[in-house]
Amino acid sequence: MRITVTTKNGKHYGTVHAADRVVYATPGYFTEGMALADVKCWLAFHGGNMEEREPRSIRFETVKCGRCEGMGRRTDRPDWAPNHKGICYRCHGDGTVLTAAGYRAQQAYIAERDAALNTTWGELEDGEAFWYDGKCYAKGQHPWLILFDKTTVRRHNGPVCRAIWKDIARRYKGAELVY
Ligand SMILES: [Zn+2]
Repeated sequence: MRITVTTKNGKHYGTVHAADRVVYATPGYFTEGMALADVKCWLAFHGGNMEEREPRSIRFETVKCGRCEGMGRRTDRPDWAPNHKGICYRCHGDGTVLTAAGYRAQQAYIAERDAALNTTWGELEDGEAFWYDGKCYAKGQHPWLILFDKTTVRRHNGPVCRAIWKDIARRYKGAELVY
């Protein structure tokens, strides 16, 4: 990764290069310092591996829910109201459901992720970040959260997770990377 500041027509432009690509270019500034500050801000936020554009997430293919016609909730259907406040039980109010291809990709993703990252509370290092019951913690930093040594938790590891997203998106047509 390389930073350059160039001057054109009295304005200063900061540019971040990774390998042979430009990954970020600032607007024109009146001083070189301002252009450089913009670049540093961008790096602080997007830092890490600059050699390759990294996905933020993975998305599985969905279609509009046929039961609620994408509304998620129907107030015009009195027969839906009593049990679910009108919320569609097929899509749980999302208005979308996974396609068959999306579902296959999601199942493959969960299996691969759990195989790579699942561990037990006893195996975690002190201070290591992990997922438990849908929330992210760091071991020892939440005194109220003490688990049994054999309790399954999932390590929070960005690089491993991103590698799995890429693998799944490459192998399954029901998945795509989110940048
Ligand atoms: Zn629905």
